[in-house]
Amino acid sequence: MNKTAGQNSQTSIKKNTVTKSTVPLVEKVLTAEEQAALTPDIVLQSLKDGNKRFMNNQITARDYSAMVRNSANGQYPKAVILSCLDSRIPVEDVFDNGIGDIFVARVAGSIINEDILGSMEYGCKVSGAKLILVLGHQSCGAIISAIDDVKLGNITKLLAKIKPALNKSQNYKGEKTSKDKNYVDEVGYRNVRNSIETIKTKSPVLKEMLDKNEIRIAGGYYYMETGEVKFIE
Ligand SMILES: [Zn+2]
Repeated sequence: MNKTAGQNSQTSIKKNTVTKSTVPLVEKVLTAEEQAALTPDIVLQSLKDGNKRFMNNQITARDYSAMVRNSANGQYPKAVILSCLDSRIPVEDVFDNGIGDIFVARVAGSIINEDILGSMEYGCKVSGAKLILVLGHQSCGAIISAIDDVKLGNITKLLAKIKPALNKSQNYKGEKTSKDKNYVDEVGYRNVRNSIETIKTKSPVLKEMLDKNEIRIAGGYYYMETGEVKFIE
């Protein structure tokens, strides 16, 4: 081994030592007792706090292999989150949650249908989740397609579920086209609110839980450039 090669290998060892994480990895998953002790308000606050960590690039370091083993015998998630399909929104990461923390339902435009309602009822009534969060986002392809009145295969029927939000945006003062980003946001926010209203009117099971303060239903809107979720309560 020549002198130069020896020096190089020393440098690389030093680098490895520096980059190796000394932060202990989290391996805890929610237990039945911990889930039972949570209130809807505590869960909502935990999502707000988690989103702040995500925005600040301070996401919790997790031992996923240990969490897989620790969650194998049951799940006690704290919330059900309905998100759009968009690939740029990794829902667990956005709220700094790990394995067993949240149920995530995903469908383009975060719209509501019977199967989504059934999934939410399962998450809350059967499995004890305390919060439903409907998550919309900026630059949503489904919202833009609904504004553009796209007709294509099964997408047509899906977009019909976004039309009530379009109807409620009639009084928007600017250009009512998908080129106006503020209009897309206007429809996006109204679509989240519309999904929340649909949950309340179409699911007597969840409405009863809501009236008894066993759950809360909130909305959120994700901002693409910052990762911030603005909460709609
Ligand atoms: Zn979307």
